Amino acid sequence: MPFRFEPRSHLAGAAGRTGTIHTPHGSIQTPAFIPVATKAAIKAVLPEAMRAAGAQALLANAYHLYLQPGAEIVEEGGGVGQFMGWDGPTFTDSGGFQVLSLGAGFKKVLAMATEGLGNDEIVAESKERLAQVDDDGVTFKSHLDGSLHRFTPEVSMQIQHQLGADIIFSFDELTTLVNTRRYQEESLERTRLWAERCVAEHRRLTEARGERPYQALFGVLQGANYEDLRRKAARDLSTMGFDGYGLGGAIEKPRLGEIVGWMTAELQEDRPRHLLGISEPDDLFAAVAAGADTFDCVSPTRVARNSAIYSRFGRYNVTGARYRRDFSPLDEGCDCYTCTHVTRAYLHHLFKAKEMNAATLASIHNERFILRLMDEIRESIDGGYFSELRTERMHDYYGRT
Ligand SMILES: [Zn+2]
Repeated sequence: MPFRFEPRSHLAGAAGRTGTIHTPHGSIQTPAFIPVATKAAIKAVLPEAMRAAGAQALLANAYHLYLQPGAEIVEEGGGVGQFMGWDGPTFTDSGGFQVLSLGAGFKKVLAMATEGLGNDEIVAESKERLAQVDDDGVTFKSHLDGSLHRFTPEVSMQIQHQLGADIIFSFDELTTLVNTRRYQEESLERTRLWAERCVAEHRRLTEARGERPYQALFGVLQGANYEDLRRKAARDLSTMGFDGYGLGGAIEKPRLGEIVGWMTAELQEDRPRHLLGISEPDDLFAAVAAGADTFDCVSPTRVARNSAIYSRFGRYNVTGARYRRDFSPLDEGCDCYTCTHVTRAYLHHLFKAKEMNAATLASIHNERFILRLMDEIRESIDGGYFSELRTERMHDYYGRT
């Protein structure tokens, strides 16, 4: 079996679990955070530094790589992992989020865009609608040169097969919380039909390219904040033969755990579930408890480039005057390269001096912070003290219990 998921320990009375995802490029211990290498690069950080920070897998973006340099060039380069010099497991998302968020003002309504920091991929914020959805697919304009392109379920599968990641996602329609109930129902049916087309095209491509390592296809579940739609999406897609699931779309942050729980309750135990676009500590605890296994988000590097530093006692901005002579590590007790080599005062200086290493050192720390939190969450589930860890970390990070 080139791809499989083995659950290990379970939370008492909840859907949360630990396990191992096996892929042709190695295994992933879950729950796991998957850092985002949007254009086949973690911004400002080399793959070997990501490995040292504890990254088990990286996620790249089909939309961006399709536009630049082109999926066929990545394919000629040996697939996205080999192309970027990363020998571990890789994910690509379907491109649906990017093409559908073009100009639609999604930023205000997605939980994944909390604080406006989670959405590196929102490439146009104007009122002008750059993407048009119909039952067959989506026509959109490139954010690079305005050229016209079309994604269908088949095109997304073809691109993701060329990119060659171990885990790929079905093409879905992203809705917002401001869409009407009727639109959500229509959209969900479109996404269901697209999922069937993705499975068919994925099977065709897998057979046609049999000498390549197996790529696992995850079906993406939508349904906004409606319990019946979320459950229906999960039930519908669970009969289609997907290797795992992506939990996508518009979710109100306070209801994250509840909504994830509706979906995981309907899904097979032996298939991994990836929650798209989440990295805030409270969201991670809530989603893990509700049965999500893997996560991705651009926030750790994105906020790092703006000098925001994660620490056990909350996030702070290292350019603040109080850090000018603070010769302590970014986060007491952190074992990352940055914290074991330099100080807040040094990073303060690099940001003030606009040195590029500021982004590198801050990004390494922030990625390690989230990766280490996931390690601790995983150990706490195996060790039977998840709720104690959650209470302690929430109190420390947010100053609340
Ligand atoms: Zn650190």
